This record gives sequence, C-alpha cells and structure tokens, in this order.
Amino acid sequence: MRLGAARKWVQRFTDTVAAHYYGADVKRLRAAVIGVGYLGKYHAQKYAALPDVELVAVVDENLPRAQEAAREHGCRAVADFHAILGATDIVSIVVPTEQHHAVARACLEAGAHILVEKPVTRTLEEAEDLIRLAAAQGRVFQVGHVERFNPAVLALQEVLRDPLFIESYRLASFKPRGTDVDVVLDLMIHDIDIILNLVRSEIKDVRPIGFPVLTDEVDIGHARLEFANGCVANVTASRVSDKALRKVRVFQPDAYLSIDLHNPKFVCWRRLRDGAGAARLASEEKAFPPTDLLLEEIRAFVAAVRGGTAPVVSGSDGKRALEVALRISAGMGQTWPLPEPGA
Ligand code: NAD
Repeated sequence: MRLGAARKWVQRFTDTVAAHYYGADVKRLRAAVIGVGYLGKYHAQKYAALPDVELVAVVDENLPRAQEAAREHGCRAVADFHAILGATDIVSIVVPTEQHHAVARACLEAGAHILVEKPVTRTLEEAEDLIRLAAAQGRVFQVGHVERFNPAVLALQEVLRDPLFIESYRLASFKPRGTDVDVVLDLMIHDIDIILNLVRSEIKDVRPIGFPVLTDEVDIGHARLEFANGCVANVTASRVSDKALRKVRVFQPDAYLSIDLHNPKFVCWRRLRDGAGAARLASEEKAFPPTDLLLEEIRAFVAAVRGGTAPVVSGSDGKRALEVALRISAGMGQTWPLPEPGA
C-alpha cells in the first residue's frame, strides 16, 4: 500500500473510532504542536493517538526536526508558526519559556485554545496578559503542570483535610537540558503547583536557600513556605543528585500521608485506639500501574475544550506557581556559591 493510501486508511479508521465513541456528528478537533524538541515530540504523539483529534501540523523553526515528527504522524511540517494560525482548534506550545508569551498570544488572537508548557511564561505580566486575552476570547488556557494528573497526587487529594505540615523532595541527576533557568523554575515549580493546590491559603513568608553546583544557576535549592492559615511547607529540589526521587509528605490532624510520584504510590497512616484506649498506627497503601501523565493532561485539555469547562490547571494556576517560584528564586539571589576548588 502506498504511503498516501495508508494514511487515508488510517484517517478513515480513526474517524470510525471517533464516530463510535463520540457520535457520528462529532467534529474532530484540529491540533498543532509548536516546538517539537525534547518534550514537544511527545505532545505530538499524544494528539496523534486520540481518536477525536486530528494532528494537522507540527511546527519547529528547526525545519528538519518538524519534518521528522511530521513523517511519523503523517501531518504538515511547518517552520513558522504564523503559517498555521487560524487552521487549528487546539495548540500545544512547547517552545522555550521566553517565547511562550509571544507564541501563545498569537494563537489566542487567531482563536485557538492553548496548552502552554510550564513555567507558564517568563514574567507575571506576560501570564496576566494571556489570562486576560484567553478570557476575552472565550478560549481554554491550560498550563502543563503534568503532575496534577499523577494518580498518587489524585489519591492524596481525596483524603486531604487541613494540612498542617508538608514536605516535598524532587531530586534528579544532572542533565544539561533546561539549565538556562535555575532548579526552582526547572523542577521545584512542579511541587510548588501541587502544594498551592493542596493548601488553599495565601503565602505569608518565604525562606529560600540555594547553591549553584554544576551550572551558573542554582542547582540545589530549598524553601520554607509559611501560609496564612499556619501550614508550613518545606520544598527541596536538586538536579545534581545521584538518584531520582519525587516524594510529597503531608501531616494533617487525623493522618500522615505520603506519596511517591516517581513510582506512583500512596500511603496513609492513621492513629487508632484499641479497646483499652491505647493509640496505635494503622496504614493503608495503594500502588498504581505506570500512567502516561502527558496523555492524561492532553486528554483533560481536549475534554475542557469540548465541554467548554475550566481546565484542570488554569492560566491563573500557572501564574500563581510562577509567582511563588520567582519569589523563591529572587530570595536565592543572595546565595552561598560553593568555593572554587582549592580556594
Ligand atoms: P527544546 O529546546 O528541546 O525544544 C524546544 C523546540 O522549540 C526546539 O526544537 C526549537 O527549535 C523550537 N522553537 C524555538 N522557538 C520556536 C519558535 N518561535 N517557533 C517554532 N519552534 C520554535 O526544549 P524542551 O526541553 O522541549 O522545553 C520546551 C518547553 O517545555 C519549555 O518551556 C520547558 O520548560 C518545558 N518543559 C516542561 C517539562 C515538564 O515536565 N512539564 C519538561 C521539559 C520541558
């Protein structure tokens, strides 16, 4: 079978599947991914796997990169994102962060719903501008805080009640990718977003500390966040660790909750009393099969667009996480760089 005929067959097959699941009159959403580098190529794969979506174009200013992804999915390869404006319903924006605002603004103005990777933008003003524009255009603006779709986080949310104390650890081995920003905007911002979603209270005080180790930016950092309702969160992130670890622990009046986000698992310890009134601890554990978090995130984006509902992670959520991350980063401006060897 020639390539063109094979593509038409796949198209007819996915149309049939879409009609089966969503009804014959459902319109497939036309999707595009702008920026198909390390992460964007996975966004393209997920759209291509959804029966009610048609991936119409992949865009990258590095045209061979776009062409490679386009060959894989049988869609258009484009170098300049302006060429697809008006020709798509939904767009993932996976270009470097300093370009999120300009690209997202143009997509919104052209009437597209947008999923913007994290951190949402470089500045709070840029984020605010996109939030206003998305609201004025009546378009969904979702931010790529993918851990919100982690089954361990969802299990934690189900039993969460008045957290008193939270600690999070996100440790990763060193990779040169992403090191144009510090570890707070690179990694810690995932946990900041999770914690802000768990503790619905304003932040009263931020005490950060961090050190550059292998780059010119802070590579290992810690912050103590104090909330107006009294909750305290200790957040630690490192990208120069010898092992990968992603954990959040929550202490609340009736339980101690611990989640592993890396190998998704949830443990809940509760204090019980026996017949004689003596206290003892009882635990309940749930492990989860590997989950494709990005696929869940993109499915949720598509569902918000179809249903005209608020996205799970809104532009405002992205702005709030950015605001706290920038506050932590700024406080780390007065850091304690490691002495040069031999100094
Ligand atoms: P990358 O450098 O690998 O890819 C970015 C791509 O965008 C490149 O191929 C580049 O050629 C292309 N590009 C740049 N400007 C463009 C433009 N104006 N038009 C079209 N293409 C353009 O970067 P990455 O690691 O994939 O990161 C991209 C974004 O995703 C960043 O915002 C980053 O913070 C975020 N990210 C999020 C996570 C997560 O866990 N959610 C993980 C990694 C990266």
